[in-house]
Amino acid sequence: MNKPGPPRTREDACPGAWHVHAAADGGLARIRLPGGRITAGQMRFLAESASELGNGQLELTSRANLQLRGVDDSDVAELATRLGSHGLLPSRSHETCRNVIASPCTGLDDDGLLDVSRCVEELDTALCAVPELAALPGRFLFTVDDGRGDVSTLGGDIGLHAVGATEFAVLLAGRDSGVRVGQESAARSAITAAEAFMRQRAAEPAPVWRLAELYDGRRRIAADLGRPCSEPSDPPFTEPVRPGIAARRGNLVALAVGAPLGRLTPQRASQLAALADRAGGDLRITPWRSVLVPGLAAAEAATRAQHLREQGFVVEADSPWSGMTACTGTPGCAKSHADVQRDAHRVAESLEPGGTPVHWVGCSRRCGTPRATAVEVLATGAGYDVRLADEVTASGLDAEDTPAAINAARRTA
Ligand code: SF4
Repeated sequence: MNKPGPPRTREDACPGAWHVHAAADGGLARIRLPGGRITAGQMRFLAESASELGNGQLELTSRANLQLRGVDDSDVAELATRLGSHGLLPSRSHETCRNVIASPCTGLDDDGLLDVSRCVEELDTALCAVPELAALPGRFLFTVDDGRGDVSTLGGDIGLHAVGATEFAVLLAGRDSGVRVGQESAARSAITAAEAFMRQRAAEPAPVWRLAELYDGRRRIAADLGRPCSEPSDPPFTEPVRPGIAARRGNLVALAVGAPLGRLTPQRASQLAALADRAGGDLRITPWRSVLVPGLAAAEAATRAQHLREQGFVVEADSPWSGMTACTGTPGCAKSHADVQRDAHRVAESLEPGGTPVHWVGCSRRCGTPRATAVEVLATGAGYDVRLADEVTASGLDAEDTPAAINAARRTA
């Protein structure tokens, strides 16, 4: 039985392309990319849009989406219209509920049990076809894991986790419900579960954003799927995609490419699009703020990676930038005590390579904190605190003094 969370006092207000969030540095527009899928042409279009209608930055998010910042109110309709014409906004009513994370490498190697690409498409199409699901909270998340265990642990509300070549386990609030569904009916089952969530949510006295906040939600939703809920068990866990060669099949590889703090300039976004043009023409955004370029000839991957490295991309797992993330901070967030992105840039080269992820945050709301164990660098207004597993390991530091504390915390993690 799930423990109900504290009552919420307002409805979720996650941003979208029409529902732009008024940030301190202008409008924040989030573009949902179910499964992280985007074509080279769409990436090029977003790079142009970021320059023309935003502040020039494209942000990779932890849900494998992309964000534009600095969008004026007067440009919102123009941006949304352009997104629609490029196939990036198929439904105005459902834009904020299209939150689907899938195993980025699915179908590109032999580590998964099946290719979930079609299942993701079916789920997105079915989601947009149910009028009631337009009101799903913007934080409500679907995960589709091809069995390798990379995305089922990312805190999804409803998950499909492959347990065979044609069968999925249904996860509810991130845990195995005991319900099993065939490949052909998997997307439909996820929709049925989402509809059950909406019915139960409507009966709650306060707004509910996530499935785990429902009283006894897992059991009741499993019942709606026609099965009693089993004792919860955790899905398997696999390491996230790291920069470098992430998948290989035959003579083709997929190169995972990061950018410092997950921020792409228009030029870098266009460079990735150009690289994808040389391969299969597609890109996949990962929930670890990197971009997967599938279909590269294995023989030329090293040369391509070297070229990207020279252009400032992150292509090695032991780069100081690998696993380093930051919230918006100043000037984009009025709550922040510091310009955390600037400070992360100042000290990155002093960090020991690789190791435990590091996340910089400008205040105690801790936006974007990874689900995996991470060293946290928290701006307090009186310098930075370095924290590991909720323990403060150093406090009141100037930015330039943080590397030693971060390195020490990483060694003990
Ligand atoms: S953690 Fe604080 S400073 Fe950072 S984005 Fe969230 S609210 Fe803003």
